[in-house]
Amino acid sequence: MGWDVNYSCDICGKPKREANHWWMVMLGDVPCFEQGQPARRFTLLPWNAAEAAGPNIHHLCGESCAMKAMERFMSSGEIFPEKVTRVG
Ligand SMILES: [Zn+2]
Repeated sequence: MGWDVNYSCDICGKPKREANHWWMVMLGDVPCFEQGQPARRFTLLPWNAAEAAGPNIHHLCGESCAMKAMERFMSSGEIFPEKVTRVG
């Protein structure tokens, strides 16, 4: 098994090599939300090579970066304000 794409952590920039504790995060829309509440959801997915290349997938090198991503999401509604990827 190999990989075609070199991923790096979207929080700390660490390149993904053989390390095996990577996670992916996807932000999705929330169909129903209350006034003043975030309209998006934070989905944490186990690393999956088939999905890692998806346009809305963010790559995280481990637990501490996943925690940081969630903190940012909970405080600002975005994980990567500088790197907003939207489709459509
Ligand atoms: Zn990281």
